[in-house]
Amino acid sequence: MNDIADKGPNSRDGRSDPAYLDPKMSDPMTLAFAEARTAGERGEVPVGAVVVRDGVLLAQAGNRTLGDKDPTAHAELLAIRAACQALGSERLIGCDLYVTLEPCAMCAAAISFARLRRLYWAASDPKGGAVEHGPRFFSQPTCHHKPEVYGGLRETEAAELLRSFFAVRR
Ligand SMILES: [Zn+2]
Repeated sequence: MNDIADKGPNSRDGRSDPAYLDPKMSDPMTLAFAEARTAGERGEVPVGAVVVRDGVLLAQAGNRTLGDKDPTAHAELLAIRAACQALGSERLIGCDLYVTLEPCAMCAAAISFARLRRLYWAASDPKGGAVEHGPRFFSQPTCHHKPEVYGGLRETEAAELLRSFFAVRR
C-alpha cells in the first residue's frame, strides 16, 4: 500500500530536499494525521491531508473552515490548492492525496478536477463521505477522472481521533 517506500527514495537518491519524505521518519498518512491533530488543537474538525508526488511532499494542510470562515476550507482542498501552486499547474498529474477521512462530495469533485492519480484515506465516513457513501462521486457518469482509491487504511486511529474531538464538545 505504501508506494512511497517503493519508489520514493530510489528515484532521487542523493537529494537532500527538506520536503523529501524519509520513509523511516514518516509516511504521508502519518503527516496527514499530524495535520489533523493540529487542526483539532485549533478547534477545527480534525481532518488532515497531504499531496505527494514521487516521494516528494508537495503540500500538507488541516481543516481551516472556522479559522478562515470559509466552508470550502477542507483539508483536501487546501492541500490541492497548495500543491497546484507548488507545481504551477491546475492539474496534479501523477500526484497522490492522503487524507484522514473519506472525502466529501466537494472534495471528491476537486480531486477529480485536479486529476490526482491516487486517493488514500484513513477512515470511512458514512455520514459525509462521497466516495463509498452518498453520491459515490467517482462512480457517476458525469465524473470524468476517477483516481485509484484506497480507503480504510487506518480506520481505528482516524475514527478515534474524530470521536475524542466530538466527545469533548458535546
Ligand atoms: Zn471535503
